[in-house]
Amino acid sequence: MRAIGIDIGGTKIAGALVGDDGRVLRAERRPTPAADPDAIVAHTVEIVRSLAGEGGIPPVGVVVPGFLDAERERVYYAPNISFRDLPLRALLAERLPGASIVIDNDANAAGWAEFRFGVGRGVSDMVLLTIGTGVGGAIVADGRLLRGGFGVAGEIGHATLVPDGLACGCGQHGCIEQYGSGRALLRFAGEIADAGGVGLPLAAAREADGALDAVNVGRLIAEGDPGALAALRELGGWLGRACASLGAVLDPRVFAFGGGVAAAGELLLEPVREAFHAHVPGRGFHPEPEFRIAELVNDAGVVGAADLARGGA
Ligand SMILES: [Zn+2]
Repeated sequence: MRAIGIDIGGTKIAGALVGDDGRVLRAERRPTPAADPDAIVAHTVEIVRSLAGEGGIPPVGVVVPGFLDAERERVYYAPNISFRDLPLRALLAERLPGASIVIDNDANAAGWAEFRFGVGRGVSDMVLLTIGTGVGGAIVADGRLLRGGFGVAGEIGHATLVPDGLACGCGQHGCIEQYGSGRALLRFAGEIADAGGVGLPLAAAREADGALDAVNVGRLIAEGDPGALAALRELGGWLGRACASLGAVLDPRVFAFGGGVAAAGELLLEPVREAFHAHVPGRGFHPEPEFRIAELVNDAGVVGAADLARGGA
């Protein structure tokens, strides 16, 4: 059965008609009017109608970057798109009479897509870490998305990694996000640039471009610059440590890494594995998970949303 997946992001609303094998058949996107919840709902409805074409509307899954209630009716809070306690499912159902509609969290959708059609195919337990500006996550346990008792499980980025560590936007200190995100990578790169030595090319890029960013640090990593690689190793080290703790609780067969920083591929996974091995409890006395790069990168949100609409999880 075909289904429609809509991924409402901070800058764009992406929509796709998706086949039951997870393939994108048609796609559409437009900018997000981030400050105007009514306009976001209206745009979402227009994209659904356009993708559905003539005839009936296939099942629709809509995912957002925020907290939802356990019943998946309301969005409690989505900071980047100004949703505050919004009854999103009902608002969509009103404008799309007769359509079957589900709403969910975008990280859950990406994790579900990887589990069904990507890097988690064939395993029952998987953790996806999305390493972008922040650290997002999704947990598949025993073949199902782990949503938690209140619907907000899987906020992996805000598990504590460093007691009394760096302040986090969530109001706590030392969260995984402060040590394992794209922003943390830039901080490590900045510190290495300040120290001179292998940091000189990073310092030169900072001087030329005005700041270190995903583009110039990514380029130096791709060129094999020792300073940029050291920053990536530091990031991977923290993530591997985090995975050792997560593994003790969740016992996944696969840790998958998505998001912009995952473009570094094996260069990221190598220090993750090393740190995991150094910190895993009872090493050598039980099988160990695999560490892999996510496969669906750009389409994961819409593909996962569509599959959730079909009643996937
Ligand atoms: Zn936090």
